[in-house]
Amino acid sequence: MKLSSSILALACVALAPLGFSEDEAKPTGYTDTPFLPGGKWRVHDDARPRPKVVTPGKTTADAPSDAIVLFDGKDLSEWQMAKDKSPADWVVKDGFFEVPDKSKSAGGPIATKREFENVQLHIEWASPAEVVSNSQGRGNSGIFFPGNFELQVLDSYENKTYADGQASALYGWKPPLVNAARKPGEWQTYDIIFEAPKWDAEGNLLKKAHITVFHNGVLTQHRQAYLGATGHKRVANYNKVTGKGPISLQNHSNPVRFRNIWIRELDLNAND
Ligand code: MG
Repeated sequence: MKLSSSILALACVALAPLGFSEDEAKPTGYTDTPFLPGGKWRVHDDARPRPKVVTPGKTTADAPSDAIVLFDGKDLSEWQMAKDKSPADWVVKDGFFEVPDKSKSAGGPIATKREFENVQLHIEWASPAEVVSNSQGRGNSGIFFPGNFELQVLDSYENKTYADGQASALYGWKPPLVNAARKPGEWQTYDIIFEAPKWDAEGNLLKKAHITVFHNGVLTQHRQAYLGATGHKRVANYNKVTGKGPISLQNHSNPVRFRNIWIRELDLNAND
């Protein structure tokens, strides 16, 4: 008896690093608990599929195993000019890319070649180290999610501008909860969850677009609904039905830099 319990203890020690336990084969859930709303799964249901394993990066900046890398510091192969799908002509150097000078570009935004809907996006950006303008002219760019929903990119460090035009604002609608901007020229991060709007077959809006944003690790938008597709000097609306599409980066003629961009496509109903 004493020997067998020692062997069992040894086996547990040996198997523990592999994620196994002596009870691995036994059910961990229940088959006699009440049903949850919807009638599909019981409370702690043993038959309910366990979540898919995703290996996280070494830091939150590193792409996890199921991410699509949209820029790894080398080339713009995942991007194209938004207006005509010609090769992206933004400047790649030293592990980042930059909004080009007007004279050296066909102009306008660049867009992902792939189309997206609900996503988690990590993107790093830096406004120009040299401050040459003010307000909306300082390090202005933007991330546009499918349907033209902008998350503003701006040098918001000691830069007076209107509240709904700051970095991490839903441009023309919601200022960020706080201003978490770093200094001009310093690398900044956005970790974003974008939920696409939903429409019925007749084109009626069922669910607005929503966004959650961490700016430099600080929560700046918490599942904030968009008022509609972003515009300038007008109230946004949902007059146009939109669907899956590319994500684009705004060319506002300021040399804003971007690096380390990765994205995860989200199945928001994975556990239904
Ligand atoms: Mg902008």
